[in-house]
Amino acid sequence: MEEIDVLIVGGSNAGLSAAMMLGRALRRVLILDHNQPCNRQTPHSHNFLTRDGETPATISAIAREQVLRYPSVALQSDKVVAAQAVEGGFQVTTERGEVLHGRKLLLATGVKDEMPAIPGFAACWGISVLHCPYCHGYEVHGQKLGLLASGTMAEELANLIHYWSQDLVLFTNGPAGLTTEQLAALEARNIQLVETPIAELEHQNGRLEAVRTTDGASHVLSAIFARVPFQQHTDIAAQLGCTHTETGLIQATTFGETNVPGLFVAGDNSTPMRQVSVAVANGSMAAAFINRELMKEGVYSRMPVGN
Ligand SMILES: Cc1cc2nc3c(=O)[nH]c(=O)nc-3n(C[C@H](O)[C@H](O)[C@H](O)COP(=O)(O)OP(=O)(O)OC[C@H]3O[C@@H](n4cnc5c(N)ncnc54)[C@H](O)[C@@H]3O)c2cc1C
Repeated sequence: MEEIDVLIVGGSNAGLSAAMMLGRALRRVLILDHNQPCNRQTPHSHNFLTRDGETPATISAIAREQVLRYPSVALQSDKVVAAQAVEGGFQVTTERGEVLHGRKLLLATGVKDEMPAIPGFAACWGISVLHCPYCHGYEVHGQKLGLLASGTMAEELANLIHYWSQDLVLFTNGPAGLTTEQLAALEARNIQLVETPIAELEHQNGRLEAVRTTDGASHVLSAIFARVPFQQHTDIAAQLGCTHTETGLIQATTFGETNVPGLFVAGDNSTPMRQVSVAVANGSMAAAFINRELMKEGVYSRMPVGN
């Protein structure tokens, strides 16, 4: 096999965007992806120009088809399980036991959302349990909505969701942990507070019908917003010595450079603004920087003219 200029781990929005830019920069690119994008359960993805309302699978299929038109770009379905810096680049090992080498490594691996142990929550995730009002608030605006949050973030998030619907119930799933001022601010906006723990999200095929609390009460709602904890999809960045932010993101410059020379990141694994458009932009910026580094190192394309 020809020497690979850039190995990309993760072939979703950030990884495919970087691959397109690098393919157009005549770079030999191998994308490794095990097809677990974080938004795979949502029936409609919004806010990405030209693809508003499409399924994530459709967006991904079109992106893959366009990216793989570039002859120097290839994609393999496999999971990277280990990585190390070696002479002249990086070596990765996949679940199927392949060992691959690339001069530069781009991690576009996303994050994994952790579902709380509330029956029905995981089934509704992305369908009627919503992570972001900018992505999914429009479709439910003005309807009776819920928000699952507690502690310092609860009031801030409640104010945000209240913009889309003034008929809002804040579920704290236990003691709210709010100050007197915060409670007064909620009351001033007529946001109902429910501290009783949630027993179950009642739903039909992921479409929320009601939030049932442990006291037997049933709160009929169209949708509930929730911000859940996340973890990195893979510990490859940690294996390679990357520093992380306090919130668990991989630390990087605007152009995706990490503290490990030659190792770049893009997309959800390193940005708090989780949007398809942002992941795509991150991928492009990292790709341009990677190409710049390769040029500086005197690595030029060996692709046949006109191919
Ligand atoms: C439920 C939900 C709904 C959303 N809705 C919207 C929306 O409507 N509009 C919007 O703009 N944004 C939306 N988002 C956010 C958006 O999906 C993300 O910002 C975007 O997908 C990030 O792209 P990414 O490429 O960084 O990561 P991801 O899309 O998560 O992809 C990461 C890829 O890397 C692969 N991978 C990870 N580790 C490895 C490994 N070790 N080896 C091989 N492959 C690996 C994964 O399998 C996956 O395919 C939503 C998010 C969620 C959770």
